[in-house]
Amino acid sequence: FRAVGLVQRGMGAYQRVDEALRLPVEPTAPQIPAGRAPAPKPTGPPVTREQPALALRDVHFGYDPERPVLRGVSFAVPQRRQVALVGRSGAGKSTVFALVARFYEPAAGTLLFEGRPATELTRDACRRGIAVVDQNTHVVHGTLRDNITYAVPDATEAEIRRVVELARLEEVVGRLPGGLAAVIGERGSNLSGGERQRVALARALLARPSLLLLDEPTSHLDAINESALTTVMKDVAQECALLVIAHRLSTVQHADHIVVLHEGRAAAGGSHEELLAGSALYRELAASQMLRPGREPGSGDRGWADA
Ligand code: ADP
Ligand code: MG
Repeated sequence: FRAVGLVQRGMGAYQRVDEALRLPVEPTAPQIPAGRAPAPKPTGPPVTREQPALALRDVHFGYDPERPVLRGVSFAVPQRRQVALVGRSGAGKSTVFALVARFYEPAAGTLLFEGRPATELTRDACRRGIAVVDQNTHVVHGTLRDNITYAVPDATEAEIRRVVELARLEEVVGRLPGGLAAVIGERGSNLSGGERQRVALARALLARPSLLLLDEPTSHLDAINESALTTVMKDVAQECALLVIAHRLSTVQHADHIVVLHEGRAAAGGSHEELLAGSALYRELAASQMLRPGREPGSGDRGWADA
């Protein structure tokens, strides 16, 4: 089944990114403090709150230079806003993530982080401000606490409590014997797919990124996890910018802005209502399997990785 192959191929790219982002970059580097990571030394114009967390300007890219994937993509993610990226399978959504995480460099065009061109920043400097939560949610054998503090091992109790609340994990902490000290099996079998996802979100949020890249589950979540994820995303957008590859209707409905990727370009943009009214392409996507109500009767929570 071709679509699955494409998704998984795309996934491979930023699974590596995800790993790169979560591992300490160099052993001698100072640990990410519990507070916001220090801003890289400014080399460009002074950064103000007005600068979007991320902007793409006329970005071109192809894995094979003969086969362009992105052919002049421009859009911005303002500070503390939620921007949803939609498009058919193979449209280049995961590729945008891979470029933002600087796993690849654009062939032409510019990426700007808080107004600074990516080329003026080191990859590590860019990555320090970004967290990626992809569809392949990894839980490691260890305690729930280990799983949350993986990337920020010296996090304070207060910081851990903050992300547990933010990721709506209190119920999980309460349910598991030992709470944060409960051992999570290798495959996270004592957690549902939605819960594993929120553990990954808590882990990402602990580093206080200024930009969170989230690839939503393509498999639906059960009603409780669906609504928990929606709430978490709303709260996350209060404190950092969120760029989400959206597969759920509830996400596009809550997004401040939706970007429709089509034929290598940001072909349309606007709110869900605006796009429904003004974009035939978006209407077609919304009507297709691409944007699904999160809940389908009679199905359980199958997690993220099995889409
Ligand atoms: P989406 O996430 O929107 O489904 P992708 O960004 O994964 O789309 O893929 C966009 C295009 O780039 C597709 O044609 C896909 O086959 C191709 N592609 C994705 N990842 C790679 C890769 N690592 N190497 C080569 N081609 C890739
Ligand atoms: Mg993808």
